[in-house]
Amino acid sequence: MTSSTLSREARHLALPQVGADGQRRISTSRVLLIGVGGIGCPAAAYLASSGVGQIAVCDFDTVDETNLGRQVLYGPDHIGERKADVAAARLRKINPSIDVSAITKRLDGGALAEAVASADLVLDGCDNFATRFEINDACVEAGRRLISGSAIRFEGQLAVFGPDYSISPCYRCLYEEADESLGSCAGNGVLAPVPGVIGTMMAVETLKFLAGVDSPAPLLRLYDGVASEFRHLGVSKRPDCPVCVANT
Ligand SMILES: [Zn+2]
Repeated sequence: MTSSTLSREARHLALPQVGADGQRRISTSRVLLIGVGGIGCPAAAYLASSGVGQIAVCDFDTVDETNLGRQVLYGPDHIGERKADVAAARLRKINPSIDVSAITKRLDGGALAEAVASADLVLDGCDNFATRFEINDACVEAGRRLISGSAIRFEGQLAVFGPDYSISPCYRCLYEEADESLGSCAGNGVLAPVPGVIGTMMAVETLKFLAGVDSPAPLLRLYDGVASEFRHLGVSKRPDCPVCVANT
């Protein structure tokens, strides 16, 4: 460990819950982040600055001008470039001592299963239910912790599942079917820092899990940015869940 790495990690090393052992676990961990948008950008930045050893960022989209208000890894110079490539380059600048890879195609089927299985933890910051369900299926199959976030208008949601799905619910226990009534940020708007709140909380939950700090699952938090309140909700395992019950 170099002196600059030690300096970067000094504030983590000072935490009794993390310390040298926890930081070593963080630095030898592999995280897959799917969706580097308003939620994924801040999550990725904190994971990189915190020294997560290997980060794979996946997004097949390109940077658009309407992204710039909240997707804080991108600037006007990046318009038209692939988000995963730009994000990976930015993360390498934030922390040159970690390994960052970019996946610029949509992951599905065997490629998704492989990417999930090769990670210690998966972050889902994507923007549609079809992809969320596929990511959940792969996490249940591989027994990986899944940290999922979403945001729209002034509202955000943080959900944490697994990795032991034999006793713990999954994302499909929470959403039986796609709830597209929640709508998109394009149609409904979103206050720029709201996805940042959720992405940052996802980074907190990730680092706790990786460092071996108590990190409970399932966990469901709803953030109401108008009232400045968090609601704590329970999630139960659905006896007829087609994913986590059928697979365990
Ligand atoms: Zn389930």
